[in-house]
Parts: sequence; structure tokens; C-alpha cells
Amino acid sequence: MMPIVPFVSPPESGERTTWAKILPAALSGIVQVKPFDQLSQDERRAAKVAIVANPNPADVAALPGLVWVQSLWAGVERLAADLPKDGPLIVRLTDPRMAETMSEAVLAWTLYLHRDMPRYMAQQRARVWREHDLTGPEERTVGILGLGKLGSASAQRLAANGFNVLGWSRSEKTLDGIQCHHGPDGLRAVLKQSDINVLLMPLTDETRGLIGARELSACKEGAALINFARGPILDETALLSALDDGPLSHAVLDVFNEEPLPASHPFWQHEGITVLPHVSAPTTRATAAKLVAENIARYFAEGIIPPAVDRRRGY
Ligand code: NAP
Repeated sequence: MMPIVPFVSPPESGERTTWAKILPAALSGIVQVKPFDQLSQDERRAAKVAIVANPNPADVAALPGLVWVQSLWAGVERLAADLPKDGPLIVRLTDPRMAETMSEAVLAWTLYLHRDMPRYMAQQRARVWREHDLTGPEERTVGILGLGKLGSASAQRLAANGFNVLGWSRSEKTLDGIQCHHGPDGLRAVLKQSDINVLLMPLTDETRGLIGARELSACKEGAALINFARGPILDETALLSALDDGPLSHAVLDVFNEEPLPASHPFWQHEGITVLPHVSAPTTRATAAKLVAENIARYFAEGIIPPAVDRRRGY
């Protein structure tokens, strides 16, 4: 008998329909993937591992024998907040393809700021023909805040494109060609030196509201900010002040406190803000499904659980 692996996702979500086709195909011959609401009571009790995408916590709680859950997303702050600390282990998606996609987005939007595109777009709207001095990438310092799977790939891609790259993480790190800093003093050092700061850390108790008025006022005059991490890491009110009356010249935002960004939000109309609808690094379904299948196959063949989220740290 093939083991049954529940797929727990809200029934009304479009995500569920798409994944409900891809996952059984990727896992065929290994396990049977079954939507949560189609499980019998015995199947609920027997489940050891589940695949989850924005699950209702009550559905996960209704699988009492779960040892671990495989998330289809890289950011698991909601899952970590929703599931009890002594509940199943949480395995997030760590797909090299996502790191490539994110590093491409970081490079693209760094180039957008580096080559002054917001200013030339504003000039076009005003029918102004004016050239500005060109700055070389080697004269531009980019700070990557968060040097995990996505941040380190992004830092290296920027360095390969000639930028001077600084990095910041929680613990001490060494990365070829990147000047790495860590801890609270390290954050100030990076903010002070960088022309562009890129947020790529997870949302945890420590990082919620981390980039506020004090941190933004420590930025270089004319610096720009890219937030590709999570909205609540950045204080939105402090950001507006730093753009209007402080050192910041522009912000590229892909993530927000509330998503979709409400139509009445001041960010939409602000000259100094580029709004993106959470698109910097979506999960690539084909590669993600393959990774999930490998993780689950290894578990049923050898009992190995992939590295899980540290619930104390929150990532
Ligand atoms: P990761 O591999 O877990 O790396 C997290 C990095 O952040 C690590 O370098 C970690 O430091 C650092 N960090 C964590 N807490 C910190 C703190 N308090 N102070 C300083 N540094 C801290 O995560 P990842 O895979 O790179 O993903 C990062 C985040 O990107 C995800 O959590 C998710 O929220 C976001 N994301 C966004 C999108 C999008 O489309 N916008 C897509 C995917 C992911 P250590 O190295 O010392 O542990």
C-alpha cells in the first residue's frame, strides 16, 4: 500500500487547483497525494507528512500523527505563527531555481536604480531632455540585508556585475568577494555605506519593524531601498518620511503590510516609490514539485527529514 500524503490548502484557492494536478504527477509511484477534505478518518490519523500551502491551522491539527510538513513557499512566518511549537516540524521550500529568480530580480531592480530609470521616466513625463553623469557599478555600493539562500545568490550576482557588495546576517558569515557584517553594529555599518539596500531577511520576532526611522535616517544621502523580503520588516510610515524629508531617494517595494496593496494606499501615487505586486521570486512549480517529491521519497525510503525551521529563531 502506498502511503497517503495530505495536501492541505484552502479549497477555494486557485493555488490548490494548480498544485492538485502537479503534485500527484511528481509523486506518482512514491506516495498518493490527496486533498485534505477527501481524507477518511483513518487516513487523517495515519498521515506522517503533509504538503501545505497557506493551510487552515485547524486542518493541520486534524492530522494528529504528523511528523513534518513540507511548505510550498520559502517564507514560512505565517505557518510558524499558526502551528503550535510542539507541532510538526516545518520544512520550507529551498529551491536553487528560486535563488536564481530572486537574484535576477535583485540585479534587474538594482540596475533600474543604478541607471537612474525613475529619474529619466519622470523627465519623459515632463518632456525634459537632460542627461546626468554616468556612475560605474564599481562606484556603487549595494548592501544585502539577509545572506541566506536568496541573499547570498543575489550578492554574488551583483558582485559578478561589477558592484561593490556588502552583506549583513544574524551570525558571522564569509562569502567570496562580499564584505560581510553581522549583528546590530553591522546593520548600521551597511546602511551607512550603501547606495542601495536590499532587504532579504525572513520575517521573525526580531526582524518585524527592524527597518524603522532610526535605521532609515542612518542611510546615505540619496540612497535607495529595495524590499523583496516581507512588508512588516519595514516601517511604512518611517519610509514615507525618509523619502519626503530624509535621506532616501527611491524605494522599490514588492511586499507590503497588507497585500494586495489597498487602492487608497499613499505608496501607489508616490513619485519616489515603485510598487510591484509580490512578484520578485514566485515559486517555480515544476522545480518545486520535483524537490518536494525528492524530500518525501527520501523520508519514506530512509526516514530522513529535510532540515526544518528553527522554531526559536523563527526561520
Ligand atoms: P534564509 O536562507 O533562511 O536566510 C535568511 C537570512 O537572513 C540569513 O542570512 C539570516 O542570518 C538572516 N537573518 C535572519 N534573521 C536575522 C536578524 N535578526 N538579523 C540579521 N540577519 C538575519 O532565507 P531565504 O531563503 O534567503 O529567504 C529570505 C526571505 O525572502 C524569506 O523568508 C521570504 O520572506 C522572502 N521571500 C520573498 C519572495 C518574494 O517574492 N518577494 C520570494 C521568496 C522569499 P544567518 O545567516 O545568520 O542565519
